[in-house]
Amino acid sequence: MKERKRILITGAAGFLGSHLCDRFIKEDYHVIGMDNLITGDLRNIEHLFKLENFEFYNHDVSKFVHVSGELDYILHFASPASPIDYLKIPIQTLKVGSLGIHNLLGLARAKNSRLLIASTSEVYGDPNVNPQPEEYWGNVNPVGPRGVYDEAKRFQEAMTMAYHTFHGLETRIVRIFNTYGPRMRLNDGRVLPAFIGQALRGEDLTVFGDGSQTRSFCYVDDLVEGIYRLLLSDYAQPVNIGNPDEITINQFCEEIIKLTGTDQKIVYKELPTDDPKQRRPDITKAKAILGWEPKVSRAEGLKITYDYFKSLPEHEILHKDFAYYNK
Ligand code: UDP
Repeated sequence: MKERKRILITGAAGFLGSHLCDRFIKEDYHVIGMDNLITGDLRNIEHLFKLENFEFYNHDVSKFVHVSGELDYILHFASPASPIDYLKIPIQTLKVGSLGIHNLLGLARAKNSRLLIASTSEVYGDPNVNPQPEEYWGNVNPVGPRGVYDEAKRFQEAMTMAYHTFHGLETRIVRIFNTYGPRMRLNDGRVLPAFIGQALRGEDLTVFGDGSQTRSFCYVDDLVEGIYRLLLSDYAQPVNIGNPDEITINQFCEEIIKLTGTDQKIVYKELPTDDPKQRRPDITKAKAILGWEPKVSRAEGLKITYDYFKSLPEHEILHKDFAYYNK
């Protein structure tokens, strides 16, 4: 029998981490999930616990990480990832992107593993060029509310690249743009769960600013495919993965109103500090190097995601925790 490849996935109980666990299980890997469950939820990976090729460790990767046995790959996806979370847990956000990646780079060296890190379009900050190519260096405020995330991710890229050049470690960097799908947290404050949650509860939909800011939303299965291809590629420079179909938040809100059939009105709230005015990935590199581009339209992806949120228990839909933005 052929030996299974072994992969460590940090942030395994989170939105993206759990979908990655599913994908690598499907590819017949031995998957070792790790999460400290601050923002993750074990229900996202509960269905995997019965499998012999899945293990899980409740551990904070900001502390020394030990995994026994061989390790072919490491995916570092542990991090708070919504503006609400950065405000609530800024220090953990900084630690997992700095101390956490240092521990994992050490582990990767010790095990001779290839390490892929989840970076983000936030490294571009509030970008002055649109769409954003990988060569753009960004426009980031280090001391604003998003700075804890943006700078941790920028440091993480720098650290990973240093291990690549100095130690010859095999590394990959994916810059993830806005992604959505089942298993997002209904109360994480991001725009899609916010709008759908409001529609389900019969509340007004809250658009921040005048709603002219843009985002480009990628369905999670497309993102996972891009990450899978990048991991197995031989390309060590950062690669944008996202859907270039850019819309304004006003347009997005209209789409959610249509999808959910809500008759609630739109209310306008103050734009959060440093909220990027435009965001759209330039995916020329992903296309050329990975032969990747997104396949799932927003209409299809939003329908699947809405059905998921609708299927949640009522008390979860009613429970909201928007303390920071929606007061
Ligand atoms: N947004 C909004 N209403 C909400 C939540 C978010 O209008 O209830 C806006 C937010 O100001 C931003 C965009 O939607 O311009 C996307 O926000 P999100 O938090 O999802 O992610 P970001 O791309 O800003 O990191």
